[in-house]
Amino acid sequence: MDTGRSSGTRAAWRFLEHGIKGYAADRDRPDREATSRLSPHLRFGEISPRRIYHAARFAADRKPALSRDIDKFLSELGWREFCRHLLFDHPDLHTRNLQETFDGFPWRRDAKALRAWQRGLTGYPIVDAGMRELWHTGVMHNRVRMVVASFLVKHLLIDWRAGEAWFWDTLVDADAGSNPANWQWVAGSGADAAPYFRVFNPILQGEKFDPDGAYVARWVPQLEHLPPPLIHKPWEATPMELAAANITLGETYPAPIVDHKAARERALAAYKKTRE
Ligand SMILES: Cc1cc2nc3c(=O)[nH]c(=O)nc-3n(C[C@H](O)[C@H](O)[C@H](O)COP(=O)(O)OP(=O)(O)OC[C@H]3O[C@@H](n4cnc5c(N)ncnc54)[C@H](O)[C@@H]3O)c2cc1C
Repeated sequence: MDTGRSSGTRAAWRFLEHGIKGYAADRDRPDREATSRLSPHLRFGEISPRRIYHAARFAADRKPALSRDIDKFLSELGWREFCRHLLFDHPDLHTRNLQETFDGFPWRRDAKALRAWQRGLTGYPIVDAGMRELWHTGVMHNRVRMVVASFLVKHLLIDWRAGEAWFWDTLVDADAGSNPANWQWVAGSGADAAPYFRVFNPILQGEKFDPDGAYVARWVPQLEHLPPPLIHKPWEATPMELAAANITLGETYPAPIVDHKAARERALAAYKKTRE
């Protein structure tokens, strides 16, 4: 009989044997299958991080050419352990800012914007692709998680706890340590926080990590006929380009719910005030 344990072991073995080559270079590409997809197996205890660690070290001994990829993979696994330790010390990690200065942060209450984010209707293609992938499959690539989380917290100024709760309800690997720790990292309220002035630009992130637009085209098929880089910024397409791609902005695909530049400035002002 196939048990959870045997499927976790098999998934790890398959990745270390056939999938890890190129991990260091490609792990940030949501349009490629370059990561292990081991997180649900870890989350449900189907395999332990120690077992993965030793299997990876064994693989590196056998194939030294893969050492760089394996080291990078193990450093990511290290983040999981860090999040676990944070949870051990802070069981209320999902509700309490680790940095108390954030307790007075001017979060906005905006149910409409939150709903648009949850449903993948923000008008920013890489954000919408990620949120739709999550809704349909329970999975989202790490790079895209960072982009959508930054968008909610910084572009929309919505409390990270609302995003954490949505991920908790929808992710197949939803983890009591990794989920809140990463949300707090993105918000800047965590133990090891992203710099407050880092506001991911969803257009540049799309262009850099999904250069052919394949990821967006897959999850937002309404945009599939728009060539890159326009697929990451459909509002810059000419009326003729939109017509050729069968797109009516505001109808077949939403116009951006916030202006990137204005939202960035609003976020920076709020963060500056909190730091003072
Ligand atoms: C806002 C946000 C929320 C997240 N929520 C979760 C969550 O609920 N559960 C979860 O397992 N991961 C979470 N992550 C981390 C990361 O996105 C996933 O672990 C990763 O995408 C899983 O895919 P993989 O197994 O193919 O990763 P790989 O790239 O193959 O990495 C191997 C393993 O390392 C660990 N890992 C990698 N990156 C991280 C990280 N940033 N933090 C902690 N562990 C990491 C995971 O256990 C993963 O399975 C979150 C990240 C962000 C930005």
